[in-house]
Amino acid sequence: MNKFDVIIIGGGQAGLSVAYFLNRHGLKFLILDDNQKAGGAWNKAWDSLQLFSPGVYSSLSGWMLPPPEKEYPTKKEFISYLEKYEKRYNFPIERPVKVEDTVYENGLYRIKTNKGEYLTKAVVGATGTASGPKIPQYEGIDSFLGQQLHSVDYQKPSDIQGDKLLIVGGGNSGAQLVAELTQHKKVQWATLSPPNFLPDDVDGRHLFEQANKKYREYLKGEISEEAYSISDIVMLDSVKDARERGVLNHRPSTFTFTSDGVIWEDGTHEQFDTVLWCTGFSTKLDYLSSLNIVENEKVKTKNTKVLGQEGLWLVGMGNWTGYASATIYGVGKTARRTVEEIVAYILQ
Ligand SMILES: Cc1cc2nc3c(=O)[nH]c(=O)nc-3n(C[C@H](O)[C@H](O)[C@H](O)COP(=O)(O)OP(=O)(O)OC[C@H]3O[C@@H](n4cnc5c(N)ncnc54)[C@H](O)[C@@H]3O)c2cc1C
Repeated sequence: MNKFDVIIIGGGQAGLSVAYFLNRHGLKFLILDDNQKAGGAWNKAWDSLQLFSPGVYSSLSGWMLPPPEKEYPTKKEFISYLEKYEKRYNFPIERPVKVEDTVYENGLYRIKTNKGEYLTKAVVGATGTASGPKIPQYEGIDSFLGQQLHSVDYQKPSDIQGDKLLIVGGGNSGAQLVAELTQHKKVQWATLSPPNFLPDDVDGRHLFEQANKKYREYLKGEISEEAYSISDIVMLDSVKDARERGVLNHRPSTFTFTSDGVIWEDGTHEQFDTVLWCTGFSTKLDYLSSLNIVENEKVKTKNTKVLGQEGLWLVGMGNWTGYASATIYGVGKTARRTVEEIVAYILQ
């Protein structure tokens, strides 16, 4: 059986960022990715998706995203960039290979996949969050007979059945899909708390500059107040257009389901054909189950290093694996640091 220094599980932007730094150290590594093609979770996003990070903040280490047609890159432009990025550096990637379990024995990891087994000294989990779409548990949800789908399964307006649509979730996905679908359907938007729209002149760039500042402070052991959150809604042209059309109305997402719709907090019933959940993601780490380290979909880490389990790192899972590590801009910093730790571990 072929033995590696490092196996990276997941070939999205986080996996490629780790590969970029490993490449420079000449370690023998392999990326295993269960996608059919390059692009990670971006392949699952809806067709019209525009990134909320401007072009300059949408590049991985070493090679800049070619200038997008508009300020904010489209999903297609970003996937094409990831495809070219992995070819440019000639990363060893096997696709589609799904990692099913990870076993640690005699100081080595045995990676069990649907295409056979691999041996490695170190493992990096870079599987993102898109395989764990989150749907909150609402009373009566099982009785609802209409269509339900999560934003990760939505591609285009014709995916939505019927005319009356309830969109749940007040982040960037919710706002962008309200903007798109109000042009095709009768939409009601329900949010846990009032959506936080960034001022028009505070674009994604500010969020990332703030993330950068916060990261520098974090390295110095300081913590500052955030002016804006990375989950606040960036006023892309499509969202501004929705505001002009007067369709960004929302109401609290307090309701129970009936077979054909919902009953709102004030007791009124409203019929819906479809519910679109824009309610985010949670980390899915089934492929580490034999290690018995996953608790409530999380693992104890110090930065990206899994505590109590040598040779294992998790990259790009969210703030708990590095500030803004689940963004294009943020993942490079955590990847670089992770590879420094891996090199020290392999060479010890
Ligand atoms: C709607 C939306 C918009 C976003 N917009 C932005 C933005 O504008 N700017 C920004 O910086 N960030 C944005 N993000 C956040 C983030 O950049 C993306 O979620 C990004 O795809 C995360 O990359 P990743 O490599 O960590 O994970 P992924 O892209 O999910 O890649 C993980 C890969 O691992 C594979 N995998 C999973 N499990 C296994 C397994 N068991 N075995 C083998 N392979 C496996 C997956 O199939 C996938 O190919 C957005 C996120 C969403 C959901």
